Order: sequence, then C-alpha cells, then structure tokens
Amino acid sequence: MVTRTLWAPQALLPTGWARDVLLSIDEAGRFSSVLCDQGEAGLSPQIERAQGPLLPGLVNAHTHAFQRAMAGLSDAYSADCRDTFWTWRDVMYRFLATLNPDDIEAIATWLYIELMRCGFTTVVEFHYLHHDPKGQPYRDRCELSLRMLRAAERAGIAITLLPVFYAHSGFGGAAPTEGQRRFVHDGDSYLRLFSDLQARCQQQTFAVPVRLGVAPHSLRAVTPDELARVLAFIDRSDPTAPVHIHAAEQPAEVQACQATLGAPPVAWLLDNTPLDARFCLIHATHMTPTECERLAASGAVAGLCPTTEANLGDGLFSAPRYLAAQGRIAIGTDSNVGVDPFAELRLLEYGQRLTQGRRGVLSRSDASVASSLLRSVLSGGAQAAAQPTSQLAVGGRADMLALDGENPDLCGRQGDALLDALVFAPLRGPIREVYVAGRRVIKDGQHAEHARALRDYRAVVSRLLAASA
Ligand SMILES: [Zn+2]
Repeated sequence: MVTRTLWAPQALLPTGWARDVLLSIDEAGRFSSVLCDQGEAGLSPQIERAQGPLLPGLVNAHTHAFQRAMAGLSDAYSADCRDTFWTWRDVMYRFLATLNPDDIEAIATWLYIELMRCGFTTVVEFHYLHHDPKGQPYRDRCELSLRMLRAAERAGIAITLLPVFYAHSGFGGAAPTEGQRRFVHDGDSYLRLFSDLQARCQQQTFAVPVRLGVAPHSLRAVTPDELARVLAFIDRSDPTAPVHIHAAEQPAEVQACQATLGAPPVAWLLDNTPLDARFCLIHATHMTPTECERLAASGAVAGLCPTTEANLGDGLFSAPRYLAAQGRIAIGTDSNVGVDPFAELRLLEYGQRLTQGRRGVLSRSDASVASSLLRSVLSGGAQAAAQPTSQLAVGGRADMLALDGENPDLCGRQGDALLDALVFAPLRGPIREVYVAGRRVIKDGQHAEHARALRDYRAVVSRLLAASA
C-alpha cells in the first residue's frame, strides 16, 4: 500500500539526473514506483511537493558518538609541541571515564540529529563503550549498546550498530590499560554481548532500521586467534553481517604490526582473513602500492574519515591509486570534529590538490570530482552499513534529502552542478527535508527533537566541563 507520494523538480536516480520525478513509498518505507517526466501542472494538489532537488541520503560509515562532546577540547596549546594521535587518545580516555548511560544517550542523540541535518540518513556506530566507569559490566550487559539504538530512534536515523571487541592494549596480546577498562572483553564475554544483542534485535521492534555487525577494534586490540574466533562465529550466525576494523591509521601501528605479525595491517588482513565485500577497513591510511591495489580488488570498502584523519595527523589516504583500481570507499565522521558529509568529500580532494599541485584529482573521466565522489560513497556507504539505502529506485529504502531550491548557491542549477556546489561552495544549511524509510524526519530544515536534544546535550557538556575545571 502506498503511504506517501512525493514530487520533486529534479532527482538523482541510479541512471542519472531526472526531471519532474514522482516517487511512491509503500508501508515498508521502500519505493514502490519512481516515475520521470511527471509535470507538476497535471498533479493532484494532495501530492506532496519536495522543497527542492532530491538526493539519496548518505551513510556515515564510522563514528564514535561519545567523542562528539570532546570536539574542540583536545586542541589546546601544547608546550612541548608533541601532541599526537597517542596523546589525543589519553585525553579521550580521561574524558570518557565518568560518562553515565544518560550522558552517552544524550550525546549520541544530539550528534545523530546534527548528522541528519547535514545529510546523513544512516549511521554506523563503532561502539566500544560497554562497561561502567569502574570497568564493571552493567547489570544488563547490553545497556550502552541499547542506549545507542535509543539515540538513533529519538533522532530517527537508521543505524548499523557494531559492538566493538577490544581485548588488548597493543600487539602481542598486551594487557589492557586502566584507561581502556570500559571497553574490554575476552572472547567469551564479547560473543555473549553480541548474541544478547542479536536476540534483542530479533524480539524487539525499533522505530528505525537497525542492522548489527561486528567490529574487532584493530589488530593491536585483538589477537589473530581472537579475530578468527569472532569471524567464525559471525560466519555461522549471520554470514552477511558487516565486519569493520581500524587498520593502518598510524605509522607506529604499522611498524608494530610488521614487527609482531610479520606484515603491515592491510597485507596481514588480506592474507589471513576472508577479506571481502562484508569488510570495511577504517582509515587504511598507510598502505604500500601493492596493499592498496589488493584491497581495491578484494571488494572491501575503505572507510575514510578525512576530517578526523587531518585532526589527528594520521596521514593521507592513497586515494588516486585506490580509486583508479576501482576501490570502494565510504566516508565517516569518526571523532565528530566534523559532521558534514560534503565537507569530508571536499577535504578528501583538497588533501590531494595540496600535495599534487593540481585540481580535479579524484574525478572520473566522465564526471566532476563532487559527482564522482558522491556516487562512490553512496554505494560504498550502503555496502559498509549492509543496509538497502543509497538509491532512489523501486525496492530501495526511501532515505533521501531535499535540497533548498532557494539557496543562492543552489538555485537555478541543474544536475551535477548541484553536487559541485554542495561540495565546493560555502553553503550553510543546504538541506530542507530529510526522509528515513519514507518518514520525514527533518522538515523546513528543523528536527522535531532539536530543542530537547540540545538542552540535554548542553547539560551533559556543562557538567563534564565543570567537573574537569
Ligand atoms: Zn575510529
């Protein structure tokens, strides 16, 4: 049964831009028909009019929601100029030490609303906070995972929840540190957590689409045997579930992996796991040319987080080589120092321009940079999230954005020129409406939960700052 019919002056379909598009959505939140050249003049006044051109919603393929509340708090003056990823991580460990479940839900709810206002309709939460501030499991071991699902429901965003398996502080099975006490599981307790969550997701109905997957944190946080055990478990229990892992973010990590496991992280994963289209390697920043081409050929997705990678001084992803080899990419906001998908794509290209001294580095031969990258991350993001999003097409989930047709940088533009403006013009608030599974969650640029979520978020941040003063 059709529950919503929407007309738009332009829409980005799998076949390209189309004009005068009429989209029908069924009760499951999927497109039941998509018709082009349906002039507005002949339409019934009851049919909804989109407020501007329509795009598929984007997937945020990598986030740690709680880190949103420390954005801007880890960049104070450092007298010895030795601030690195590793010193940032110490700040992060101190920050998360006191967060309670209500705090975590409030931060995630606010973040997810921000993400939707910027164009994301699905979030992949790489969720590694599991225990209480003392490192003890909550009475319900799923407490904090369920808080993430609750935050997604309050925001109205589709979610792929990846409970993280974190067992060690470094390669060779090193014991976890005190700062990691809220993350840590052994193999048994992790699989119990995952099985419990699977059961909850089967029993319970959520207000938003929910998908579960696994996230062994990294090769430094799980041993090869532990990783093999988790992969064997997921093969038996849900063979299509997504598998995400941090890999090759920092040179020190690559060197330690080489010294301990005999190969750098990406090569090791290629040689020792069934790395395929279910996998998403987060960052994959430091690869040899061979690793880069082999990863592209594997069908896995590289989950790129350009703003966080710049903020942490990680390095520059080998995007030209990887994309030339038909590698698949998705974008994530990771530490959430940025929340805008179009800014992530801009930085991905600008990093290349600054090092290569030329423009248009990441464009395909037949399309602009913005068009090429946007199309890549739409399909790569849906693959990484394992959700049926990314296409305005019959059978696809009705996740979409209506751009502001009146915006001075968008008005009068057609087709890919809209995407070029989204990525390269200084737009503020270019999105008027956001739909997830056919439900309109943002209307007139506003989210119904905005005021309440902002109030709760401010209260958490104020209390955290007062406690640390
Ligand atoms: Zn991360």
